[in-house]
Amino acid sequence: MRLEIIVVLAILGAGLGSFACCQAWRIRKNDKSARSHCMNCKYQLKWYDNIPVISWLILGGKCRKCHKKIGTAEILAELCLAGLFVLSYAFWPNSKELLEGNVLEVAMFVTFLVQLVVFMILAVYDAKWKEMPTSILLLSIVVGAVFLVLKTVLVLMTGKFAPELIVNIAGALIILPGFYYFMYKASKETWVGSGDAILCVPLAIMLGDFWLAMFCLFGSNMIGSIVMLPVTAMKKEKHAMIPFGPFLIAGFMVVFFLQDAIINFVSF
Ligand SMILES: [Zn+2]
Repeated sequence: MRLEIIVVLAILGAGLGSFACCQAWRIRKNDKSARSHCMNCKYQLKWYDNIPVISWLILGGKCRKCHKKIGTAEILAELCLAGLFVLSYAFWPNSKELLEGNVLEVAMFVTFLVQLVVFMILAVYDAKWKEMPTSILLLSIVVGAVFLVLKTVLVLMTGKFAPELIVNIAGALIILPGFYYFMYKASKETWVGSGDAILCVPLAIMLGDFWLAMFCLFGSNMIGSIVMLPVTAMKKEKHAMIPFGPFLIAGFMVVFFLQDAIINFVSF
């Protein structure tokens, strides 16, 4: 691993985390204006108020003009994406090919980072408004498909058998979007939203394996339960909708980074 790459990825991740958070707001408010502003006093943020992490630290997470707390979600998104960019580099499954600069592997890595930005928009949106915009869900499927094409070419070039790849992807699709679609229908749209089922499509094709999909399903539910149990226990309403998108993405990340270990474990 190289330190300069880690630094560049962390800065890029923080900047794109801020971008993702802005995009979520813009889609929600149908706001095309390029600059962000304070929700309380409408103060237009200047460029120096928009430097990821640094501006937040200098201003203590408050608006420059009215001193109302702003941008808790922004700082979280910035730190989270900076961390995920670095983790993606550190835990990349074919790290040898990536470090050697294999063109296809680097293209896969870049596609993966793009997908992380798309996922961050979805996670912020879901956490705030408990739904996910269809346009961004479709975008994540397109990015997932690009990732799959690159992976397929890479696998074919190493001379592996292609039909096996198709079977593995079909298995992943049955487990993740299949299961969530079933839950969505069976619960009459009360347990899971249709957005969760759609989000499972890019997750499944990027994992591309039955067992990885299975681990992602259980992992996401486990993370979701651990985080949400104390929250729902404190709330009076027992049937509050839980934004499940962020947990699906968290489960996916863990399984993606540990995929070699999981595959070794199940084929043992
Ligand atoms: Zn303000």
